[in-house]
Amino acid sequence: MEQFDFGTATILFTDVDDTLTTDGQLRPETYQALWRLAQANVAVVPVTGGCAGWCDQIIRTWPVSAVIGEGGAFYISKDADKKLHWSFWDTREQHKIDQANIISDVQSMAEGDGIVFAKDQPFRLVDVAIDYNQDHRMAPEQVASIMLQLENLGYRVKKSSIHLNISKGNFDKSTMALRLGEQLFGLTAAELSQQAICIGDAPNDESMFSQFPQSVGVANIVPHLDTMTHKPAYVTSERCGGGFVQLADHWLSQLQ
Ligand SMILES: [Mg+2]
Repeated sequence: MEQFDFGTATILFTDVDDTLTTDGQLRPETYQALWRLAQANVAVVPVTGGCAGWCDQIIRTWPVSAVIGEGGAFYISKDADKKLHWSFWDTREQHKIDQANIISDVQSMAEGDGIVFAKDQPFRLVDVAIDYNQDHRMAPEQVASIMLQLENLGYRVKKSSIHLNISKGNFDKSTMALRLGEQLFGLTAAELSQQAICIGDAPNDESMFSQFPQSVGVANIVPHLDTMTHKPAYVTSERCGGGFVQLADHWLSQLQ
């Protein structure tokens, strides 16, 4: 990490779960690191698979310039009057139709009765999340069968450690990061790749590592590296939020 050159970067895309949070919690030193970066004029943009309700809280209360949520389905920004602006990948109406179709297809599956939606489903605007390992346990073979059936229906299914996330559309974390770069910062994809650093912890951050050469993984990414095609350029020695603090410390030391 000491050798990492932040160059003229001014934007930080950061994953949230297990990158900012440590064992599920946002620790004071990590939250302070977000503030220290923001006070040094780094535009911090969390990029999360988390639900819209969670993103609404983040943009209102954290020192961030924007937030990308539900795996790239939308971003929220805030103007000088603190008014929020939502920007969806497709139209809001189209996402609503797609989400209703996914829910109806899931409910009509043979396993329908045994499928439990995530507790935060009412706070999702695009994504549909099936709980297989959060408050409800599902057998691995049943999870695999549900995934296959949904993929055969033309949906995109991503498996996190707790949920199956189902959506329709060709967005991901990095395609929305590029769109945000153009719309909020007026940067082309090439310019954004030069100006932005990204940090993450898991295979679902691969699209970001692939797009942004100045990429960092927190130490808990190490067990996943063998299965990943696009790996971060550097890995911190500390895990989760501690690794994020290391990135902030090095970046701020180079700005002085
Ligand atoms: Mg994560």
